Formats: sequence, structure tokens, C-alpha cells
Amino acid sequence: MKIYVEAYGCSQNIAETYMLAQAMGEIVDDPQRADAIVIGTCVVIEHTENRMMRRIRELRKYGKKIVVYGCLPSARRELLDMEVIPITTWEWEMAHEILNLDKSPMDEVFLWDAIATIPIANGCLGRCTYCITKIARGHVKSRSVEWIVSKVKEALQRGAVEIRLSAQDTAAYGRDIGTELPSLLNKVSSIPGKFFVRVGMMEPRETLRILPQLIEAYSSPKIYKFLHIPVQSGDDEILSRMNRGYKVKDFENIVNAFRDRYPDMMLSTDVIVGFPGEDDESFENTLRLIERIKPDILNITRFSPRPKTPAYRWKRPSTNKVKEWSKRITELQWENMNRRMERMLGREVKVVVPSRGKRGRFLARTINYMPVVLEKAEIGKFYNIEIVDMESAHLIGRILEEREVV
Ligand code: SF4
Repeated sequence: MKIYVEAYGCSQNIAETYMLAQAMGEIVDDPQRADAIVIGTCVVIEHTENRMMRRIRELRKYGKKIVVYGCLPSARRELLDMEVIPITTWEWEMAHEILNLDKSPMDEVFLWDAIATIPIANGCLGRCTYCITKIARGHVKSRSVEWIVSKVKEALQRGAVEIRLSAQDTAAYGRDIGTELPSLLNKVSSIPGKFFVRVGMMEPRETLRILPQLIEAYSSPKIYKFLHIPVQSGDDEILSRMNRGYKVKDFENIVNAFRDRYPDMMLSTDVIVGFPGEDDESFENTLRLIERIKPDILNITRFSPRPKTPAYRWKRPSTNKVKEWSKRITELQWENMNRRMERMLGREVKVVVPSRGKRGRFLARTINYMPVVLEKAEIGKFYNIEIVDMESAHLIGRILEEREVV
């Protein structure tokens, strides 16, 4: 069977969608040539949800069987009154039974160039008052260490040089099956081969619980010194309204502990602007936090009320305020990022090339996961390069020589 696939949302949702599509048949790039269409959906904000609904309606014009996977059928099934086959995130592992397939999505490996994304768990342990993902993905359900290790080995045999471990909260991995993320990282990084591991987003509350072991597990040369840890607000009062389960100080302690051990590590964090109850003072607290910690990447999202969550009907700050705050925090982040990138100019660094970039170029990564664009390179190779320039959110490199070892 020929399958046309489109996947949206986080890397986990994208990987699961492709693994499902691969289990169904051969992937083709034209919906007209396909026997069935698979769309992996995201509902994280209202705008995305509307886009998903629009896209499903457009794809129906091809008259093919449509499988709608992911967070839309899981959290907003009532919107899908049309003739599509919904597969929820908790049905993913048994999708072959529902769709009558010979293979399970669990039998597949998803590779994008030389990047393999492995969905290590579904769901989380939080109860954030704004988050629809909890409804879409439920309580944490971890996949076994044996399954993950076998997927990593298979991906390496197929040429992967970057392994992405993905989940809604990778720091919550294993809590339901009697293990923990550091132990998984130790197992994965002891697999022979030339590769790097990118650990996906970790919630601060769960990260605090495993902090010393996690910092130790990161000492493997195979783990990118990269931390994605969403703070969401720099104000304790707002964090409490969000029910995040930690204070600003806790977040800073995690960042400082990691930076003490890995001073050049790359830090990515997220903030929500315009959460109900936010005022000038709480926004200034967030701004000051960002000034202090200077993250390398800051994902800024304007609060979007999601149905079925407690914050859905809470009173929000005015649109003008939210616009003004978003602008100020975005400007601050550009300054931080430019300063950090300028420090890299002229340096010689080691990189791996896990994927293509845009406009026929290649995207390399340093051990700290900094993105460096190369004009010419070979996917899956390791190089010594010189940083010669910078461009919007990435550096530009020039290859000095190819390397054999990680
Ligand atoms: S888990 Fe969140 S980000 Fe990922 S697809 Fe679902 S709603 Fe979107």
C-alpha cells in the first residue's frame, strides 16, 4: 500500500506519525499516488488546531482513506465528525490491530537523513493548568529500555549519527517502570558506534529529582551538552498559577549546576507570555530571569487558552500588553543569541553532520548542539571546522578536515 504522510507538532509526534505510516506501507510524496493518507496532528495552541482541521478538510478532496493520528483525535475527538480513522496516542502501539496491518509502528525506525528520533515515553507526570497535552497524552507511559536500545542499534546500523530521545518530559522517563532517565542514558551511550544523543525536553520538577545522576550521565562524550528545560515564567506567583511544581530558584539551580560542570553547554528554554494573572511586575521578573541566565534558545509562546484546561476561562492580560511584552522579550533574546554567536567567530570546533540544511546546504552540530551551516559536506561525517560567520540563528562554518573519531 502507498502512503502519503504529513506530520506536525513536536519531534515525538512527527516520529510516531512516520513510524505508523511506515508500518502501513511505502511512503510516497504525492497524495494523488497514495492509497491512504496519514496526518499526524498537534493541538498545542488554538492556531495550530485550526490549521490541522483545515488541512484534514483539504486532504479529503483526494478521496483517499485518511488516518488522523496524534493529539487532535486524543484531545479533541469531538471535532472529527468527518469520515476519517482516528488513532489516539495511547492506541499508537496497537495501531496495527486497529488498522489490520502486518507490522506494528513499534517495529519501525524513523530516520531523517542521519537523525533517528525515538519516542521513549508517552505522557507526563504534571498537571499544568494551561496544557492540553496532558489530555492528549495522559499519564507517563514509558517504553522499555530493551526496546529503546534495540531501536538505537537498528538506527546506527542504518547510518544514524544523531539519536534523539523524545518524550513530553524525558526527565519523567521510567517512573512507571522502575527505572530513570540517567540509567537509560548510560545504557544508550555505552552502545558501540560513532553517534551523539540529543536528550529531549525535560520538565524542571522532574529534572530536580534526578539532577546529580543526570549531570553525571551527561559526562559521556556521546551526549550533546544540550539542555531543553522550559521555565515558562520567571515569577513564582505565575508558576504557582500554572501549577508547575517548582520555583524560579529551582530552575536556576538546575541551570547553574549544569553550567558548573559543562560551562559551554547550550541551554534552551520556553516562556509563555500573557498567562492569566500576568502583570507588568511578573513580566519584568521573567525578563530579569532571561537577562540573568541568557539562554541560547528561547521559545516564546503567547498564551493560548485551550478547552478542557482550568486556565481556559481565566481572565487574560490585554492583547496590547501581550504584544508589547512579546516584543521586548524577543529583542532581549536576539541580543543574547548574537552575543553568544559572536564569541564563536574564528574558533575551530569539531562537528558532526546529521542532516541537510536549507537551500542545498548542510546542518552540522557541535558537541554543545550549536547549529553550524556548511556549504558542502557529507551527511553522517565528522569534521574539524572553523566558524567564519553568523547568519540569523546559526553559525557559518568552513571545513578544515574530515575526522574519523567522535
Ligand atoms: S504533544 Fe504537544 S507539541 Fe506534541 S503534537 Fe501533541 S500538542 Fe503538539
